Amino acid sequence: MIQTRGLVANYGTTQIAFADVDWQQGTLALLRGPSGSGKSTWLALAAALKSPHSGELRVAGVDISKLRPAEADRFRAQNVALLPQALQLVDALNVADNLGLAQWAAGQPRDNAAIAERLSQLGLSDLAKRLPHELSGGQAQRVALARALLLKPKVILADEPTASLDDAAAQAAIDALLQAAETSSATLVIATHDRRVNEQFSAPGLAAQEMRL
Ligand code: ADP
Ligand code: MG
Repeated sequence: MIQTRGLVANYGTTQIAFADVDWQQGTLALLRGPSGSGKSTWLALAAALKSPHSGELRVAGVDISKLRPAEADRFRAQNVALLPQALQLVDALNVADNLGLAQWAAGQPRDNAAIAERLSQLGLSDLAKRLPHELSGGQAQRVALARALLLKPKVILADEPTASLDDAAAQAAIDALLQAAETSSATLVIATHDRRVNEQFSAPGLAAQEMRL
């Protein structure tokens, strides 16, 4: 669940004001707007990576507007799957160990069975020992997705998840996100200005919420 009231972000003296949202658990939402309109900034606020300048922000039942850095790190590791625009795979670690990082960040013991299961779900089992630079763009995207989804998050935040993917890989990325959200009854927010995503979500039967920036 994500609720905001009067949310404002700032970079120095530049401020960005956001419309209020009220998204219950399990909501599927699109953040739409052109480049530079504040989509990544909104996701950074919702992931407690950035503190708001003002306003209220509740995510997964927690008031995250005034968390201290260590609290924000714990909140994020335990509740949020953030799929950033730059994938941030660690190049010195193989695919399986990149997934292990998510468990480490959440203070959990390494769980190889959970890693193997998630890799298998996304068709990545054969790539477990590869290093990130040995993956194609679409594979790297799926590995980042596998890592983000490893801990069955309550909130999934995906920043332009289809940018730079061909049609088939873009479809696979969206399907994986939808499936993951459904599996853990998570709230899924996708920031995008990809026409293909907009088309998919305007299909009847997919009741997506929308915030335009
Ligand atoms: P989007 O993701 O929709 O492209 P962003 O959230 O990245 O938009 O950026 C929103 C605005 O904030 C832009 O004007 C951008 O230049 C500015 N901005 C983003 N990150 C920073 C930063 N680290 N320092 C200063 N300005 C920033
Ligand atoms: Mg962005």
